[in-house]
Amino acid sequence: MELMDKLEILSDAAKYDAACTSSGVSREARPGSIGSCSLGGICHSFAADGRCISLLKVLMTNSCVYDCKYCVNRRSNDVRRAVFTPRELAELTIQFYRRNYIEGLFLSSGILKNPSYTCEQMIETLELLRNEYHFNGYIHAKAIPGADDALIQQLGLLADRMSVNIELPSQQSLSLLAPDKSKTDILRPMGLITQKIAENTTEIVRYQHTPKFAPAGQSTQMIIGATPDTDFKILNLTQALYKKYSLKRVFYSAYMPVQSDSLLPAIDTKPPLLREHRLYQADWLLRFYGFDASELLDEQHQSFNPLVDPKCNWAINHMEQFPVEVNKAPYEMLLRVPGIGVKSAQRILQTRRTGPISFDGLKRIGVVLRRAQYFLLCQGKMAEGLRVTPESVLRALISKQDYEAALRVQEQPQQLSLFDRDPTKEDLAKCLTGQI
Ligand code: SF4
Repeated sequence: MELMDKLEILSDAAKYDAACTSSGVSREARPGSIGSCSLGGICHSFAADGRCISLLKVLMTNSCVYDCKYCVNRRSNDVRRAVFTPRELAELTIQFYRRNYIEGLFLSSGILKNPSYTCEQMIETLELLRNEYHFNGYIHAKAIPGADDALIQQLGLLADRMSVNIELPSQQSLSLLAPDKSKTDILRPMGLITQKIAENTTEIVRYQHTPKFAPAGQSTQMIIGATPDTDFKILNLTQALYKKYSLKRVFYSAYMPVQSDSLLPAIDTKPPLLREHRLYQADWLLRFYGFDASELLDEQHQSFNPLVDPKCNWAINHMEQFPVEVNKAPYEMLLRVPGIGVKSAQRILQTRRTGPISFDGLKRIGVVLRRAQYFLLCQGKMAEGLRVTPESVLRALISKQDYEAALRVQEQPQQLSLFDRDPTKEDLAKCLTGQI
């Protein structure tokens, strides 16, 4: 098989991995225009300084001895298979790098023969890149669950970032849809990588030339909507993963039906993109806004509100904590006000050192007053002429686009549906005030 055919198969097969974002768009080049888009192939990641870098996103092989029901590469699926040799993949990466197509590599793989053998092939590729071609660019490598610990360690010394995909949020779901995988097999390398990163950080302080182990940390990915696992379960697992394994990111991937199976959602089910979006918003609140998972969802409310983001939902359900005086409120409380982000909360702290802040001042600072004004006092007063009724808060917090998107979601067979009919204005008001 020609190298370009392999590349076509193996970059296309890698596009379902969300732990690194692909373009997700396919668009031919047109006369008179510059550039084209391909679904697979190049993805993007962000460097520590915020710079966007393009990566060649590819599998070592799409042959797999496992049979995960949600995966296009499962052994029982009849698709074209290909395998790169380590040399082929290393040369391809270098050639792409020299042509300035990419700045790094995102390498994952199906399980060829067994996890350890697959890991050895990946290590050989990265060794060629690092030691023979002296490639110093960014490499994100997937750790293969079930591979020998020594191999995972070797891989970590060659890659910048590692990830172990948790895939499904519970052992029950794994047993059902990925019978060859187990929670222990997935969590073991995750724990090992965490431990090695921590040890490495201490060693580097003592010995300056200690080789770095996965200096960009580790991440994971969860598939959303392939199983009945609720947002509540997923968010709690996310929080536990951040705390226990110090992950840099948990990525969520809305399940895209590519397989027909009685255990999976119907093949024409639309990916639950709004649900994925809400999970990313909640994930952000856990990492940067000091929220705990138990504040956002609980046993009684196991799904996110499709109409408003999780922070607004929390604020509306905790109106007893508002309004807060912007000139006195602690940073942690400012962060909980809808319309105030991390930067604007920091600017409020700086500005109020030199004098009291008015609503006009808040606007200049970058606060989204359309949302925030219902939850704030400036020098003891609410914004002039403001009527705080469920309707006015509703209009402020739901944009027309979100409202229409939410209505569209109601028409699809998705977990997030709150109504068995089109919601009325009263339904929306009840939903916002937590009565639903
Ligand atoms: S291990 Fe499962 S998810 Fe990974 S490539 Fe094989 S079948 Fe797909």
